[in-house]
Amino acid sequence: MGKEFSITPREVAHVETKYRRIVTAVPHPDSLAVLNKLREFEPNSMRGQPPVVWDRAEDIFVYDKYGNRWLDCSSGVLVTNAGHAAPEVRKAISAQVDKPLLHNYCFPSEERALFVEALAGVSPPELKKIFLLTTGSEAVECVIKLSRAHGIKVGGNSKIGIVGFERGFHGRTLGSQQAGGFEGQKSWIVNLDPAIVHAPFPDGYWQTDTSFETFLEAIDKSGLKPENIAGVLMETYQGVGPDFAPKDYVRQLASWCRQNKVVLVFDEVQAGFGRTGKFWGFEHYGVIPDIICCGKGISSSLPLSAVIGREEIMDQFGPGSMTSTHTGNPVCCAAAMASLKKIIRENLTGNAANLEPVLKSGLKRIQAKHPEVVGHITAFGLVGGMQIIKSGHKEPDHNLAHGIIERCFQKGLLLFAPVGAWGQTVKINPPLTIPKDALEEALSVLEEATDEAVAEQYQQPKKKRAGKLHASAPHS
Ligand code: PMP
Repeated sequence: MGKEFSITPREVAHVETKYRRIVTAVPHPDSLAVLNKLREFEPNSMRGQPPVVWDRAEDIFVYDKYGNRWLDCSSGVLVTNAGHAAPEVRKAISAQVDKPLLHNYCFPSEERALFVEALAGVSPPELKKIFLLTTGSEAVECVIKLSRAHGIKVGGNSKIGIVGFERGFHGRTLGSQQAGGFEGQKSWIVNLDPAIVHAPFPDGYWQTDTSFETFLEAIDKSGLKPENIAGVLMETYQGVGPDFAPKDYVRQLASWCRQNKVVLVFDEVQAGFGRTGKFWGFEHYGVIPDIICCGKGISSSLPLSAVIGREEIMDQFGPGSMTSTHTGNPVCCAAAMASLKKIIRENLTGNAANLEPVLKSGLKRIQAKHPEVVGHITAFGLVGGMQIIKSGHKEPDHNLAHGIIERCFQKGLLLFAPVGAWGQTVKINPPLTIPKDALEEALSVLEEATDEAVAEQYQQPKKKRAGKLHASAPHS
């Protein structure tokens, strides 16, 4: 379980730069009423993020009501690829609201037609059919259903196996959580589906053997045979790092899937819509999956997700038997259309690619300064991460990762709480609209916060120890 951030207002050094403004205690004392109300009426699980009560958010900034402005490098959990509340997206939403058409279930709408056409236009031509849903987890549940149905069609009732990856994340619903690879998060399920199994993810850090044989061995060990497997579900990059698998591994995986009539699914919920410097993350591998599921950056705002796949897989269910109440909500579709147009028009994917070296070198600089606790860093496009470990040991350190993020928050840089199987990763993923100098500023703040958090964790105890030694000195 992750740590909570303190909501006790804290006097911090004031900051006033081109991109950040912190001029009060944080959180502001007047925001406690809202924070406490949320604590009273929401479950504990909602207490995980730095306690700024968002008043408004625009482009790369998040504001509270009290004159503070954070440079946002969370993108509100990798959603606002086109920037927070992009003017084009707001205009599209307002026009849709004023039309008015706010809901139409699975009845046809022009908004849905235009958006699925546009989404097909940016997807591989082989993946022709698109089913819109609301959340990433829902899209993952849908690909499990589609993969299994396809497995049964081509191999009978014993071809229902789904292979996920260790430390993978696909959501928190029954199927998506089982397909994920965080053991600690599955204890509530108890009777885990024996046909959902996991292979090591070849990240090169926690899993040093990155050969494709590790996948084959894991299948073997699971007791399933290739003829029992319906689908392989892989995050295009594992969010935890972020980490891509080696290209060669994925190419072998794709050909193994083809040979064994296994549906290859890339979960692009995080990786899609320009985040990694290519429109889709899987473009880095040079393979085409059978299905993509995506969400988050699809609209840069309102809840929408999509399953994009080959016709023969997507068309397995007849009229009315694969639907959802909010399928392709017209307001969400209008927002997503405006966001997609902006990503393309402003070449935000290119901006992510161009800024990758800046992000990577900033993280490398921090690692070079603190090699004993910054165990692993990666950056692709505009998503980067530092995995924090206990000094000198390859053991995750949630506490220190948390401390770094808390300090960033106090200095006007907004990151979400640490992620990863053990809550060890400090992740930095700004909107793709971020200019270079803002990213450089963010990295300097992250460096300063890391310096301070490391000093607090490792130098103060030393001082205390020195005190103890001093106290015992009279005995000698
Ligand atoms: N897949 C991936 C790769 C994700 O990162 C997430 C969310 N973090 C999900 C699925 C689940 O998406 P949602 O929270 O919208 O259900």
